[in-house]
Amino acid sequence: MSFEKLKLNPSIIKAVKKCGYERPTAIQEKAIPQVLGARNLVASANTGTGKTAAFVLPILHRLSQEGRGGKGAPRVLILSPTRELAEQVADATRRYGRFLNIRSTVILGGVSYGPQFKALSRPIDVVIGTPGRLLDHLERGSLDLSRLEILVLDEADRMLDMGFKRDVERITRATPKKRQTLLFTATMDRATSSLADRLMTNPVHIDVASGKVTVDSICQRIYLADSLGHKKRLLRHLASDKALKRAVIFSATKRGAEEIARDLKRHGHRAAALHGDMSQAARSRTMASMRRGKVRLLVATDVAARGIDVSGISHVINFDLPQAAHDYVHRIGRTGRAGAEGIAISFASGSKDAAQLKAIERFIGMRIKRKTIEGLEPKRPLAAPLKTTRSFRPGRKKKRFSFGLKKAEGQKSRRGTVRIIK
Ligand code: AMP
Repeated sequence: MSFEKLKLNPSIIKAVKKCGYERPTAIQEKAIPQVLGARNLVASANTGTGKTAAFVLPILHRLSQEGRGGKGAPRVLILSPTRELAEQVADATRRYGRFLNIRSTVILGGVSYGPQFKALSRPIDVVIGTPGRLLDHLERGSLDLSRLEILVLDEADRMLDMGFKRDVERITRATPKKRQTLLFTATMDRATSSLADRLMTNPVHIDVASGKVTVDSICQRIYLADSLGHKKRLLRHLASDKALKRAVIFSATKRGAEEIARDLKRHGHRAAALHGDMSQAARSRTMASMRRGKVRLLVATDVAARGIDVSGISHVINFDLPQAAHDYVHRIGRTGRAGAEGIAISFASGSKDAAQLKAIERFIGMRIKRKTIEGLEPKRPLAAPLKTTRSFRPGRKKKRFSFGLKKAEGQKSRRGTVRIIK
């Protein structure tokens, strides 16, 4: 299948070719005709499969045919869960629409209102943004969604995870009932499908994830670690590998991200942290340094997980495992993009990690290979998952909860904190 066969505007095809794309990806091949046909759409596609172009290209085609947006009254609204993702979608919209006369703007939280008011005081075709700030503009009257034709929810599952459900619903209520709605998601759970049910009628369902949630081109490994220091040594060893071109390293906390980046820099690596406490300007600067190659190791919290689309990320390293199993898929999707090879390494230690790892492996439907590095082998095996037990004492009204740790063989217990469950 070629882009020409999809009957897109020749100016769009020219822009796509300039991006170096030769043929549509699977999600593009399936979604583009549906969007062009004005159908509502629910699409499950793994991260990195080219889903942005799957909705941006046909939307641009439709906008190029007729009509103009009003002052602050866009024809298309694209909702993104994170600022980074919104910026990327905005960037893709500009790149794919460079030979068309389409006006788009990005509306993000964490930046000043002035330029946004200015952009919204002019006629606009496409608005891309994060729910909180968009809602703010709606309430202030600077954004008018009464003439909206197409609403896109990008990474809807993530939007729900981040607690944007009510914001999304409030935004949707400000749009016309008769509109086209497109929902893209990496994972389809009950909450996402119920959101889809509420937002649209009779959608076409496209599933290119087909139940298999990891990207085939990513080689996944686990390294067991005994302590924080051990994790840092493992990371420094991996960072010295020449095969590692660019890496995103995930930390569970903002402070952790800072600390890991500092440790890497102290050992001579080009590293930087990226997390939600940084100003938008600082985050954009860090991402630009990563794109230019000035930063080789980006230590990020999950806030950046969905947004990062830097080409040539050879490794994703989970210094800390993610809280939710599906975040694992989003994180490792930063590498192995558009068919390129990628390596995803996760560190695991302790009993919490054992439970998390089990959940991840259940979610992706496979066991991840355990590996060791000579001289940096773990001294202890991974402890068995933490178990919760309930004990009821006769005569007591309240339920009492006690927690116990099922120990791995040969492990010593810490006095008073560990109880062995038989
Ligand atoms: P996405 O899943 O939208 O985040 O896209 C993942 C990556 O694939 C991005 O770097 C895109 O530039 C790239 N991409 C999108 N469509 C194509 C295509 N048809 N051929 C090659 N690369 C593509």
